[in-house]
Amino acid sequence: MPFCDNCGKPVYPLDKVCSNCGAPVTPAPLPAPANNRPAEPEPPQGSPYAVLGSWGFVGSILLLGLPIAGFIIAIVWAAGGTVNLNRRNLARGYLIILGLVAALYILLVIAIVAFGGSALLLNNIIQ
Ligand SMILES: [Zn+2]
Repeated sequence: MPFCDNCGKPVYPLDKVCSNCGAPVTPAPLPAPANNRPAEPEPPQGSPYAVLGSWGFVGSILLLGLPIAGFIIAIVWAAGGTVNLNRRNLARGYLIILGLVAALYILLVIAIVAFGGSALLLNNIIQ
């Protein structure tokens, strides 16, 4: 909110005169709109910051989906074996999801074994 040059009280931005002392208010310069700045140039292909296109993601996801080679590719890319940071982060995210799925699978196996064991115990007690 701007202030009066004469008395220092705050004035509304659209006021022409100060409501306190009546002095004319010099209009504050409007902030430049955010879309006024020039578009940033896209990083060139081969740069680490190059945008990975849709087909780049398709190819990368297909490669990561290969049965055993995909896992090796994911580790290589996640460790920095690719120039493109999009692809590196995709591989890291893929490995995080693989880890979560593996942890859930292990928990499920533990739960099944524990439940199966107790059910076996119950069967022996009942009979
Ligand atoms: Zn004033």
